[in-house]
Amino acid sequence: MTAWRVPLSDLEVTDGDLAAVVDTYRSGWLTMGPETERLEETFAQYVGAAHSIAVTNGTAALHLTCAATGLGPGDEVIVPSLTFVATINAIAYTGARPVFAEIVGLDAPWLSATAAEAAISPRTKAIMTMSYGGHAGDVARIRQLADRHDLLLLEDAAHAAGARLDGRHLGTFGIAGAFSFFSNKNLAVGEGGMVVTHDGALAERLRLLRSHGMTTLTWDRHCGHAASYDVVALGYNYRIDEPRAALGRARLARLDDENRRRHELDIRYRELLGDIDGVGLLQPPVPNLICSHHLFAIVLEEGVDRDRFRGKLADRAVQTSVHYPPVHRFSIYREHAPEMPVTDAYATRSVTLPMFAHMTHEQQDLVVEAVRDAARG
Ligand SMILES: *Cc1c(COP(=O)(O)O)cnc(C)c1O
Repeated sequence: MTAWRVPLSDLEVTDGDLAAVVDTYRSGWLTMGPETERLEETFAQYVGAAHSIAVTNGTAALHLTCAATGLGPGDEVIVPSLTFVATINAIAYTGARPVFAEIVGLDAPWLSATAAEAAISPRTKAIMTMSYGGHAGDVARIRQLADRHDLLLLEDAAHAAGARLDGRHLGTFGIAGAFSFFSNKNLAVGEGGMVVTHDGALAERLRLLRSHGMTTLTWDRHCGHAASYDVVALGYNYRIDEPRAALGRARLARLDDENRRRHELDIRYRELLGDIDGVGLLQPPVPNLICSHHLFAIVLEEGVDRDRFRGKLADRAVQTSVHYPPVHRFSIYREHAPEMPVTDAYATRSVTLPMFAHMTHEQQDLVVEAVRDAARG
């Protein structure tokens, strides 16, 4: 394993985090229980949603969202190809068909409202946005579009913990939003996720499907609230456990501070990289957005050998990545894929640079120097 001087992302675990986790082990109750309920309440309040349903990972959150909103065979869901494959898989699990649509541009790699509108067909049931890097993108316009055409708006908010547009948390613009608490996300517990919704009936359905379609939980039976159960739907086991729920709540308390720190790093990156020839930046967050800055990506000039560029950063022990290899290029989704020149261009020319809350200016300077050097060719 390379010892990166600047890793792509990095996690700081505090004594408080550890204490919260250890307490749950000492309690003797490990699966979903009171800590999970506390996390759900805290998270719902934090994002301003009526309901919050904790699950085992972000992919489960996405799948549960698609399943509980009733997507199925014959339905089409408009979605960006420039996302993690789980976004698309979650749609496909239900039998619905993902319909790929273009991003806005090379400096705005999120689903275009115009492209989404053009992709609407009589079979379209929903639009799924993905808040790339914690940006709001076209979500407000897409919300209006969905309303006009009577479509569901679903949000993959995996990057968006702490991100608010005009005070409204991303993930709460549509009928449901899915968050990921994977290790490298802004709110990280290892494996975990959350679905949020304003809709009480949908929340009930989400809870039911999270745990085998059973009408009572083990915890309820343990507490003596329920003696038996019925199974009323084909559900899953997507439960989170208490240690991770406790870790999530401990970390949520400092998420805003960490995102502010990421914001400062974003501004500093822009100042330091702005004058380097051949290196393009994404649009800065719009003024009415508190961005979660999950990623910091640059876009290389056409014709630059990206592997070589990334190799030069790796030589200086600076880790980079690509977000994302577009899903419409993967073998299992290639067949029905439309032409997507902007997505393809972004996917071949973008490089994701290190970004994490406790990155030092010294580390950031190392990244910038490595980029400057690599851009010289
Ligand atoms: C991380 C991520 C997911 C999947 O979340 P997991 O918790 O890893 O299952 C889905 N969509 C996007 C955009 C992601 O970044």
